[in-house]
Amino acid sequence: MSTVTIALSKGRIFDETLPLLAAAGIEPAENPETSRKLIIGTNRPEVRLVIVRPTDAPTYVQYGAADLGVAGRDVLYEHGGDGLYQPIDLRIARCKMMVAIPEGFDYESAVRQGNRLRVATKYMRAAREHFAAKGVHVDLIKLYGSMELAPLSGLADAIVDLVSTGNTLRANNLKAVEDIMAISSRLIVNQAALKLKRSLVQPIIEAIDQAVKRNA
Ligand code: AMP
Repeated sequence: MSTVTIALSKGRIFDETLPLLAAAGIEPAENPETSRKLIIGTNRPEVRLVIVRPTDAPTYVQYGAADLGVAGRDVLYEHGGDGLYQPIDLRIARCKMMVAIPEGFDYESAVRQGNRLRVATKYMRAAREHFAAKGVHVDLIKLYGSMELAPLSGLADAIVDLVSTGNTLRANNLKAVEDIMAISSRLIVNQAALKLKRSLVQPIIEAIDQAVKRNA
């Protein structure tokens, strides 16, 4: 029997993908928040979920360890998207990628004077391209978490991070100064799986597409 494996990360993506999977007749047998299992069966014997770190979802799908997956545009941008078909913007886990600075830092003047800025981020590619397009000289510092701490501790002048409500920035005396891109999660599909497992994969894609359009 041919099987379909879907790569999902825990938390917001998992929670917001559940109704879309339900529309395709797929219901996880367990909740990954409580079960600790990394491979989770579903009500359909031929469909299983693998629970991955958000940044790993494109890699699992690229190499065919998962046939389908869900990943944020931020993550896909850094990954590059090789080997991935991205048929649907799921319109979930929406936020913005932004440049933020400490309250009181005169970013505009620093940019106008051509100062070299230190910018901390997880999103090296997006940040590099954003500042290059603006002609701003930056030294990028790669971080893996809590970007907000970087300007507060003197590590960086600015950060590039995801902003949803803006509460995290406000709580840390930071403010957003530039939009880089609007973020939402996309369905990603292994290109070979789409051809070789079309009869299983295509109906799932179509059901999810219909569900997204109904919610729009
Ligand atoms: P907020 O305080 O609501 O602006 O959320 C900002 C924090 O949540 C930051 O640490 C972000 O990295 C994270 N965040 C917000 N939206 C998302 C998202 N769609 N995907 C991943 N992380 C997010």
